[in-house]
Amino acid sequence: MMTNVFIISAPSGSGKSTLVKKLREQVPNLEFSISYTTRKPRGAEQDGREYYFVTREQFEDMIAREEFLEYARVFEFDYYGTARRFLLKAQEEGNDLLLDIDVQGAAQVRSKIPDAVSIFILPPNRSELEQRLRSRGQDSEEKIQRRLEEARREIENYGKYDYILVNDRLDESVTGLEAIVLSERLGREGRADAGLGARAEMYRLENIRERLQPILQSFREVAASGGK
Ligand code: ADP
Ligand code: 5GP
Repeated sequence: MMTNVFIISAPSGSGKSTLVKKLREQVPNLEFSISYTTRKPRGAEQDGREYYFVTREQFEDMIAREEFLEYARVFEFDYYGTARRFLLKAQEEGNDLLLDIDVQGAAQVRSKIPDAVSIFILPPNRSELEQRLRSRGQDSEEKIQRRLEEARREIENYGKYDYILVNDRLDESVTGLEAIVLSERLGREGRADAGLGARAEMYRLENIRERLQPILQSFREVAASGGK
């Protein structure tokens, strides 16, 4: 079996980790790439589970040894990267690979793996994103504001993704994400399923454009009025 690479990007707080966790419970043969990062663990995060937490020196050594498929600096000061060995492992084991990476990393992976499938997750609007960041209760007010500002910039990249999923109702989002992954998988094996295909198509950019406008607008308005 060929390894399909799925890229998922989302502004921080959109619910990506929650969705990815549920997706992995539902879909077999989908390996998750555990990224390396120089940021500190949050809450109950464990080394080797959510991320490999390393020092800047360790990360820079890995860059020098060309161990990364892609890497980027996110939020200006921390490095995040995907080790090549996860792709090799997935290929050896005949699994698909899921990458949870930012917009910069997605661009690097697309240039190396042109048939990677990319999915962008959006919050229903800016105030809902702000609420989710607060309710997660893991970031200082300053960090929340920085993440909202970052979200406004990241969201403008939606057009580069194959699918766009607005994470409004969680159960619907999980079903949608599952439809995208399974329909791509079956389609590439020449076993396309009409029902799944139709569900996945709902999340194509051209089919979601109208729904996007108010979401984009909610971020742009705040920017125009100076951040509040
Ligand atoms: P991310 O990984 O994108 O930074 P998380 O998965 O940590 O985001 O979610 C941020 C917060 O929003 C969490 O408290 C999570 O429980 C909540 N959340 C996720 N999806 C939804 C949803 N569809 N509706 C309401 N709250 C959600
Ligand atoms: P967080 O600190 O909230 O876990 O993640 C911050 C951002 O870094 C998210 O947008 C996440 O997708 C991104 N990210 C996580 N791992 C990687 C990675 O390996 N490479 C890149 N480019 N971005 C990553």
